[in-house]
Amino acid sequence: MTRTRSKELAIQTVNDALGEFLAAPPEGTPAEVIELLSLVAGDPDAPLPTRLYFEAVEQAPVAISITDARADILYVNEAFEALTGYTRDEVRGRNESILSSNATPDSIYQQLWRTINSKKSWSGTLVNRAKDNREYLAALTVAPVLNQDGDIAFFLGMHWDVTHEHQLESQLRQQKRHIEMVLDAAPVLVVLLDETGRVSLDNHEYKKLLGDLRGKEPAEVLRQALREQAGFDPLEAMGGGKNFKDVEVSIEIPGSGGPRWFSCSGTPASEADINARNFFGRHARDERRLLLLANEITAQRREVERAHLENLRARLAEQQMIHGMREALGAAMYQMQGPLNVIRAALGMLQDGRTDPSALAGMLEEISASGQRAMQTLQNALPKESREAGRLVNINALLRQVMELETDRLLAAGIVVDWQPAAVLPAITGRKNQLRSLFKHLIDNAILALEETGGMQSELLMTTRAVDKLVEVTIQDNGPGISAERRFKAFEPLYIGWRNRRGRAGMGLALAREIVTGHGGCIEVDPDYTQGCRIRLALNKVTPDE
Ligand code: FAD
Repeated sequence: MTRTRSKELAIQTVNDALGEFLAAPPEGTPAEVIELLSLVAGDPDAPLPTRLYFEAVEQAPVAISITDARADILYVNEAFEALTGYTRDEVRGRNESILSSNATPDSIYQQLWRTINSKKSWSGTLVNRAKDNREYLAALTVAPVLNQDGDIAFFLGMHWDVTHEHQLESQLRQQKRHIEMVLDAAPVLVVLLDETGRVSLDNHEYKKLLGDLRGKEPAEVLRQALREQAGFDPLEAMGGGKNFKDVEVSIEIPGSGGPRWFSCSGTPASEADINARNFFGRHARDERRLLLLANEITAQRREVERAHLENLRARLAEQQMIHGMREALGAAMYQMQGPLNVIRAALGMLQDGRTDPSALAGMLEEISASGQRAMQTLQNALPKESREAGRLVNINALLRQVMELETDRLLAAGIVVDWQPAAVLPAITGRKNQLRSLFKHLIDNAILALEETGGMQSELLMTTRAVDKLVEVTIQDNGPGISAERRFKAFEPLYIGWRNRRGRAGMGLALAREIVTGHGGCIEVDPDYTQGCRIRLALNKVTPDE
């Protein structure tokens, strides 16, 4: 017979004897003794032997302790020994407070005791200190065990180490904080919508717009704008698994001084079902989400609109100037008629040979006087030059604007544009309108040159680059070019080199040079380029009050 077997038999014998004793206890046996022996013997009608309960507690993987009503330890199981590092002999008779650490606030202990002393179970988390001083997080449940009178006789404590779970949770929280920080720092509105359009995540920019819209949900407003202005519902696009990019819509926001523009992009996303039923991933039905990004582009829009307006103004001014010049030239031609008539008469008199010198002198005086008057009329008719203040200008942006404005003409002429701007250009202080008309004039010249050549692949190459504190711009076409002997003449006023001279004043390059030199720069026809014409110019900064 093995030792275990004989032990089991011995326990059985004791149990049987206890059973007999309790069935008919001798008279005068104190009630406490009967109660205690009943606890030891267990219920003879119970389906499981008492020993099994003990072994279950002993071998449970949770640290279990039984204390008296003052929390002095009576019993601990194996898991308790393993977790705390204390043997049962070391802790028996000592208070549970041997596990306490000063990292647990006193208010938690007070709450624990208030609860268990009112005969209720308490569950919570404490910082425990093991025998080797290692601190761990204990998820603890303390349950009171009442005696027959309903008073607290013992406490049952169960705890396990949740340090790892806490670390994981903290990491998750930290990651969430990082993501929120990044999202909030992004200068773009970010919002995650569920299938019904409800917001499940947003960022600082989104909340700002929510404030501007006085509580109206920005996601709903943007969705409506996309439906009405771009012709699609972003949530339906999400349902179809489609994404969209850079769709521009405008919304009216009270007090914004005009519509505000947003460039919207959307990406469908799916989120795992977090219900218990999907724990093993067998009933997966991922939730669809829409990640909507909206970048405010009101400033850029307004800048383009302003540039269009400025261009319109410039064109109007140009037309007015042409009109004025026509009037001035008409008046000058009329005024010149007078002196010319007198000159013709004087010439006739001289040819007749009957010249009276005094009459000739009078005629010359009249010629001089009417000549003066004609000159005065011309001077009065000269259009006034408007003074423009210097402002910070990004030459890349300005050139792109002019190119956009010339798009129709370039397309109509079948010109291929190669735009090679410097990735980064220093801003220069310049007169925007002057510079805009400078570039417009040079591009117009290139278009004219390419139109005059015709027949071949027309190309226009524009480059910018920074050279010290200068910004260099080249505008190059593969048209007929400007011959070496005309390279300098082309910048002289009233010089016209076009085959078709109609409507040309010959002032374009002269004015271009004036604008460039006014910006402390220089302009030339590049002598090294022979496949067409390359205008190279460099602009210097000018001070704003110049
Ligand atoms: P203490 O002075 O012992 O207690 C702090 C505060 O708790 C006191 O200011 C008082 O307000 C209240 N308090 C303490 N004892 C009593 C009491 N008998 N009646 C009413 N209020 C009281 N603590 C742990 O740190 N880790 C554990 O794992 C742990 N397990 C426990 C298991 C059981 C079954 C029980 C009954 C208690 C357990 N405790 C545990 C609590 C422990 O007994 C101590 O109260 C606690 O550790 C604080 O000890 P302390 O020496 O820092 O301060």
